[in-house]
Amino acid sequence: MDHFTAIENAWLEPPQSLAEAVYSCELCNEAVCAGDFYIELDGLIICIDCLDSLTARELAVEVLNNKITAAG
Ligand SMILES: [Zn+2]
Repeated sequence: MDHFTAIENAWLEPPQSLAEAVYSCELCNEAVCAGDFYIELDGLIICIDCLDSLTARELAVEVLNNKITAAG
């Protein structure tokens, strides 16, 4: 199962707790609570767990909407 399939599956599960949620992660939909680390990329809130598991390719293509092109 690739990473984005895992994210898609996680997306369908309800968040564990919204009690102290400040944001929710755009990729896994987990709550980002007070004190949790996150990054804001191009307006998207991404939790530190997703950030750690993204490849550079996924970050560039899936998150930042860059395109991979062939040279020449
Ligand atoms: Zn996440």
